Amino acid sequence: MSVSVRFAPSPTGFLHVGNVRAALVNWLFARRHGGRFLLRLDDTDLERSEARYAAGIEEDLSWLGLAWDRFARQSDRLGAYRSAFDRLAAAGLVYACYETPDELALKRKLQLARHQPPVYDRGALRLTAAERAAFEAGGRRPHWRFRLGDGPVAWDDLVHGHLSFEAGNVSDPVVLRGDGQPIYTFASVVDDLELGISHVIRGADHISNTPVHLQIYRALGGDPAGLAFAHLPLVSGGEGEKLSKRQGSLSLRSLRAEGVEAMAVASLLARLGTADPVEPAADLAALVAGFDLARFGRSSPHFELAELWQVNAKVLHLLPFDAVAGRLMALGLDGAGADFWEAVRPNLGRLDEARDWWQVCRGPLAPVIDDPAFAAAAAAALPPEPWDAETWRTWTQALTAATGRKGKALFQPLRRALTARDHGPELRNLLPLIGRERVLRRLAGETA
Ligand code: GLU
Repeated sequence: MSVSVRFAPSPTGFLHVGNVRAALVNWLFARRHGGRFLLRLDDTDLERSEARYAAGIEEDLSWLGLAWDRFARQSDRLGAYRSAFDRLAAAGLVYACYETPDELALKRKLQLARHQPPVYDRGALRLTAAERAAFEAGGRRPHWRFRLGDGPVAWDDLVHGHLSFEAGNVSDPVVLRGDGQPIYTFASVVDDLELGISHVIRGADHISNTPVHLQIYRALGGDPAGLAFAHLPLVSGGEGEKLSKRQGSLSLRSLRAEGVEAMAVASLLARLGTADPVEPAADLAALVAGFDLARFGRSSPHFELAELWQVNAKVLHLLPFDAVAGRLMALGLDGAGADFWEAVRPNLGRLDEARDWWQVCRGPLAPVIDDPAFAAAAAAALPPEPWDAETWRTWTQALTAATGRKGKALFQPLRRALTARDHGPELRNLLPLIGRERVLRRLAGETA
């Protein structure tokens, strides 16, 4: 079976980490199985969909490197939904309903008061032609429901195992609103069928839509055996709170603005909710190789910001100079090369911290001189240029011979004089980057 998946956000807000996880898992699944990844914007809800969110979703996915092979927008496909609806109508599988939202709410309230499940009572099926005509004459425009078949609907969910629902516990779904707009759950089935989707990988909040999905899919001529489902448990925030696109919680763009690496987000989300440890990956290809949908568990994982930052540091420590060269330039580190990157990389938690180390290398920097006599001895022992990674050893051995100092008593005053800090990258790597002239001036206590 050829694999074809889709990520189908509604453009009603910016992507949060839960949405991004669904996108990433779909993408990884497609790449792992040589399949295709469709980005579909579910924008049939005209009141809540906004062009800026649609653009934001595309921008966020591109930033992560999740390229889509195909693109669709539900608002471009209204004709397809109309004709699918007409086929259901011709088969007698949909029926017109005239209840107002208030009337439906009242019905539900009464059912709940009687301890009955709040399932639509199919009252519209009992309307006489005269009653229908009276509604129409009074200006009511019908919405349309799909008539569900009897008996259980079951599927083998790739995350949850065998799931089965009694059709009697589910309301006949509305497929078309009074204004003729399709409901996205209906549009989604039409798309999955017509765009040849093989696996629907989405949030567990859609499990209750799936029995309906399968019945409409079959009614439109699809073979449910050709459509697999995987419902990923929803990611919650660090405090266990539900994430919401519309409330902007943990949005990808806010994390990006704070300096998080795309590969840190991807590395963490590719493993969140699996039993496998999070492995920092330098590129998406590494995540594809280790991806297995069967590893995802049934319980809801927590997304911890602190964990993301830990992964962020580890990802930075893996990135080759080529992967960051352009961004170092953009930070104003004009002239920073691979030697600089390799020297400072192990000390970074965020890429922009490289700026501080660039300043340490290029100055100006006010040195910290604890012991001027020792600093003078250090200056006297400084080898001539050219310098390389061995210069530090040559220098400190000569300095030990001259002063008797070694270990921390030797290194710490040098670190403070050369970098004005107590911690940082290996001095053997920084030394050639700072250069002899600047080292001499700093040892003399000058800002250089
Ligand atoms: N548009 C839906 C959402 O944003 C997804 C629909 C689907 O995956 O079938 O939750």
